[in-house]
Amino acid sequence: MNAEIISVGTEILLGEIVDTNAVYLSQLFAKLGIDVFNKITVGDNEKNIMDALEVASKRSDLVVTIGGLGPTEDDITKQSLAKFVGKNLKHDPEVLQQITDYFKKQNRPLTKNNERQALLLDGAKPIHNPNGLALGIFYHTEQTDYIVLPGPPSEFEPMVDEKVLPLLSQQYGLEKTIQSKTLHFVGIGEADLAARVDEIVRNQSNPTIALYFKPTDVTIRLTAKANSKLAAEEILNHTKKQLLDRVGEFFYAEGDRVSFTDFVVNQLIKRNISLTAAESLTGGAFESTVVETSGAATIFPGGFVTYADEVKSKLIGVQPATIEENTVVSRQVAEEMARGAQKTLDTDIAVSFTGVAGPGALEHHQPGNVWIGLAKRDGSIVTKEFNFVGNREKIRHLAVMNGFRMIWENVIK
Ligand code: ATP
Ligand code: MG
Repeated sequence: MNAEIISVGTEILLGEIVDTNAVYLSQLFAKLGIDVFNKITVGDNEKNIMDALEVASKRSDLVVTIGGLGPTEDDITKQSLAKFVGKNLKHDPEVLQQITDYFKKQNRPLTKNNERQALLLDGAKPIHNPNGLALGIFYHTEQTDYIVLPGPPSEFEPMVDEKVLPLLSQQYGLEKTIQSKTLHFVGIGEADLAARVDEIVRNQSNPTIALYFKPTDVTIRLTAKANSKLAAEEILNHTKKQLLDRVGEFFYAEGDRVSFTDFVVNQLIKRNISLTAAESLTGGAFESTVVETSGAATIFPGGFVTYADEVKSKLIGVQPATIEENTVVSRQVAEEMARGAQKTLDTDIAVSFTGVAGPGALEHHQPGNVWIGLAKRDGSIVTKEFNFVGNREKIRHLAVMNGFRMIWENVIK
């Protein structure tokens, strides 16, 4: 089943507010295995809303509108839908009573516009709003179903959780039959991963398979529908095995709230492997990320931010001659930094970062040119050269993430 979201509001078009409601709904639909193929934003304009409904109803099983249910003249979503499907609007007596009571209690006069919030489409089901006055609507037709929801997130979000979710389960038989599994991968590029699993993704409708990419973290989310939880689990495990047959070497963890850096630090804690770092271009960002994991103190005694050449020599014993002969962005300097840090704090491993964050070049090195070193207590050292693409912030972030990746590849995996 596929759905489409129409966000209504001129202030969204103007960029005055961010459409968090559509994001909220998309995330829920992804979890439920409802495919959101299109999202549209339209202003508070009847013709534009009707045009959007026209296009959406032709290509989607379910159309959800968000916003424009308020008492003001510019709130016309319900009126536009009514006109579009050719039905009348009438007041829901119960909700009208609620609104009347509310105004009486507040000692405020009730206007015609306030009454508009109780309007319901002929033949539609009401979706009650526990935190506001605007009534939501569920309207079924042969071709398409429509859901109409209010814009304020304090009303919208609880309505989605408490009313829309049960309604969808009931209408489309989603109840207790949806299970998800999230698989996390590292060390494989997005194009490569997509190509390797393409055949599985294309021949698969249950579970649905969605790929998400972040720097050094690729996630595959499987969502299965079945008659029982057990049956859904079985489907998920079957597809998981198929996927791991192709890309298992890059798999590192399963779960909903997995962060790669947290995973790596926790693995070090679990195995009692102590860690330090010497950071140049990352300026402490790697170490700062290490201590985001609680319990990091047991494996991380501290480390070094060695930005200037003299400090690299003074704190961790990098030879000035090494810098002079090889330039500071070099394998040799990365090695001496990692070894120097490891020896100085007597840890099991040490990671080093030296490179150019940009925007300007350094000596003859272009922005993005980074060496990362990893020294172990047994005397071994691994170094790797990177040429990252991006602005200063992105290059520094990628350097940090790849430091963790090198630990994963050389120490944990
Ligand atoms: P109201 O009774 O407040 O007029 P409404 O259902 O008519 O409710 P809108 O007028 O569209 O909703 O929006 C009201 C407020 O809700 C907006 O000013 C904005 O702060 C917030 N809002 C609306 N749409 C969205 C959205 N898609 N995402 C996040 N916030 C939104
Ligand atoms: Mg409004």
